[in-house]
Amino acid sequence: MEQHIGIIGGGILGIAIARAITLQTGYRVTVLEKESNLASHQTGRNSGVVHAGLYYQPGSLKAELCAKGRALTREYCQEHQLPYQELGKVVVALDESQLGRLNAMEERARINQVPGLSRLNREELLSIEPHVNGIAALHSPRTASVDYRAITKKMAEEVTDAGGKILLNSEVSAIKINTDTCQVNTSQGTHTFSEMIVCAGLQSDVIAQMVGADPSPKILPFRGEYWVMSQDSAAMVKGMIYPVPDPNFPFLGVHFTRGVDGDVHVGPNAVPALAREGYDWKTISAKDTFDSLRWPGATSLLIKYWKMGLTEIAASLFKPLYLKQAQGYLPQLRSSDLAAKGRAGVRAQAWSKDGSLLDDFAIDQVGPVTLLRNAPSPAATSAMAIAEYVLKNYPLKRHS
Ligand SMILES: Cc1cc2nc3c(=O)[nH]c(=O)nc-3n(C[C@H](O)[C@H](O)[C@H](O)COP(=O)(O)OP(=O)(O)OC[C@H]3O[C@@H](n4cnc5c(N)ncnc54)[C@H](O)[C@@H]3O)c2cc1C
Repeated sequence: MEQHIGIIGGGILGIAIARAITLQTGYRVTVLEKESNLASHQTGRNSGVVHAGLYYQPGSLKAELCAKGRALTREYCQEHQLPYQELGKVVVALDESQLGRLNAMEERARINQVPGLSRLNREELLSIEPHVNGIAALHSPRTASVDYRAITKKMAEEVTDAGGKILLNSEVSAIKINTDTCQVNTSQGTHTFSEMIVCAGLQSDVIAQMVGADPSPKILPFRGEYWVMSQDSAAMVKGMIYPVPDPNFPFLGVHFTRGVDGDVHVGPNAVPALAREGYDWKTISAKDTFDSLRWPGATSLLIKYWKMGLTEIAASLFKPLYLKQAQGYLPQLRSSDLAAKGRAGVRAQAWSKDGSLLDDFAIDQVGPVTLLRNAPSPAATSAMAIAEYVLKNYPLKRHS
């Protein structure tokens, strides 16, 4: 059979990979997306930050692909006149107890060659973010804001202009692998591909099981909720203000992010979602919740982190508790400044059986199927670099 590559998922990864294959190999490409729009899940529900690589273990895929992805995203946005604002980020230590972690992070960031990185004392911090509390900080001036939906849409246009197909409302329900082909059933009919690449985000473990891959790692859905600051108070935040992360839970803690539209978002927090695509407390899937709870890793997670989990849930349900956390960074913030709830996202973070978080990007292969099994933040930043990596290292190389 001629080379026909099927891609599951119309988020930024599926579309970036489709674009790379279409433009660089000339193979036929078809993207299958279950929703009626591209970027409906993580890609369209994130913080819109182009990360500069401060956090990641040197030598990891995250460190390598985030740095390359940042450069490619910047170039892409400039070439296609898409918004790209280098507003810069400060990672703030609130007191002396956080200095050890800030130092360790600085060391990592220097090894990762984060562009323009500097250490700030309190006065220097105030010259960048005049309203912030904190005794020291790291400044990453090249951290940027973008619109990942717009980037995905532009790349999708390139795919279809070059002859690739993007089929919306096409939910994959079963995959059969034959010697040389994959047969895929969707809500709109059956397709046959020579190879497949799965970028299904929150459903990546479900699709992995359809092709007989190991059920581990599993996606345990954690929602990230945001508040949007009022127009008046938004001026208090110039760029991005981040906490010094806990290495076990790098995504926890209050973040302030100025977007390309000028809105400042406070969040995301991390609360257990009661459905894989559960964007509020009212959306509950008994199947997804039961599925999460019977995963052995979930029990260890509950035992280890119940206290922290309860704090996050309480702050999600009671605004004054969340406000108090946020005031740790911006003491002048008032309740009315957190004017409205923003659009929440759910993280497709993979967890292993012992309840530990899978830190790095993870890619598996089952015969002709390549599976992106862990692509959490900074995968939107890294998308174009991940696409290059997949093209170079996975099944397509057998045919090049
Ligand atoms: C709250 C939050 C904040 C974040 N902030 C940032 C940030 O600032 N910077 C950054 O770099 N990263 C950030 N991330 C991470 C980033 O958004 C993701 O890593 C990235 O979007 C992953 O892209 P994706 O294409 O793999 O997944 P998705 O965008 O989730 O796309 C997966 C697609 O697969 C489709 N699909 C699933 N199952 C099927 C099926 N059976 N059949 C057909 N289609 C299917 C889904 O409908 C979906 O469209 C954040 C994530 C969250 C949740």
